[in-house]
Amino acid sequence: MPIDNSVMSLQSIQGQPQAVGILSRALESGRLANAYLFYGPDSVGKKLAGFELAKALNCENSGPMTACGQCSSCRRIGQNLHPDVFYLEPDVGTSVREPWIKIDAIRDLQKKLAFMPYEGKTKVVLIDGADRINPQAANAFLKTLEEPPSDTLIVLITSNPQQLLPTVASRCQGIRFQPLDDVTLESILNSLASTNDEINLAEIPQRVSRAGGSVQNALEFDLAEWSTMRQSLIQLLTHLSLNRVDLLFSFTRTWAKTESTQLTRMLKEMGALLRDVALLQIHCSPDLLFNRDLANDIAPIVGRRSQQTLVNMQETLHNTRLALKGNANVQLTLEAMLLDFCEAR
Ligand SMILES: [Zn+2]
Repeated sequence: MPIDNSVMSLQSIQGQPQAVGILSRALESGRLANAYLFYGPDSVGKKLAGFELAKALNCENSGPMTACGQCSSCRRIGQNLHPDVFYLEPDVGTSVREPWIKIDAIRDLQKKLAFMPYEGKTKVVLIDGADRINPQAANAFLKTLEEPPSDTLIVLITSNPQQLLPTVASRCQGIRFQPLDDVTLESILNSLASTNDEINLAEIPQRVSRAGGSVQNALEFDLAEWSTMRQSLIQLLTHLSLNRVDLLFSFTRTWAKTESTQLTRMLKEMGALLRDVALLQIHCSPDLLFNRDLANDIAPIVGRRSQQTLVNMQETLHNTRLALKGNANVQLTLEAMLLDFCEAR
């Protein structure tokens, strides 16, 4: 995600009151830790908080409690051009699928940290994707964490904290970042849309509803694919019966070939649809549905299943998800699920 220069200070980062509170109090009292570990889901503000912290510590006007966002130092940090702020991320050149931060990059960083800050304030190291520091490089980096150079703040950033070497993690103060709530996410997307024509305002609520609190998920969410998936699930649930095994087998054949993240998404959507059917059955307002835009398409399923049947189907679905997590055969497991659905009356 590009750094958002419209954010003026750490305190104006949205949706992370706890993390921002801890860091603001540390800035105010002048008691920052030597090293932090920012962890939490992808794309919820961790990297942004790291850059804003770097701005506050080096701002020429308002630092070190907050940043003005306007001075030369703030602007250069926002563009990642400041000589005392070092941003590292896994090098795609090492492996496109599993990029690493290698020992050369860590040694290079250590050389730079041996000097005084160029502009007289605080050097800040931001290592994004810190779980991708390879073991050799992590061992070399331990030395820096154990004896941090003066006037230096280290921030490790990760969405997979459990994959960090325990010796590295234990030398950092952990700061947890939360998934963004829907209102915050919607407001962030609305403000991004004001400068980016590719974001369609009308699509934002749908993107938010399936993003799991992450800006990047919301932006990358494939609405066309999602729409096709929901329609095919509605067709399946509407017509599925033992008289239509053709539907059943064509469905399982298709899904047996897809990758697991998409399969997981499909099963999640199936659960959302079953929930919507149950809500419509007890005459809830369509506004409460996950798929409120499809209330009319879902309606025909409502009369075909009793509440108890829907509960049973949810349970079957739950067991299917568990079985597939445990590496069960996809096609057979989905077939068993749909046969159960047919018999659930
Ligand atoms: Zn400034």
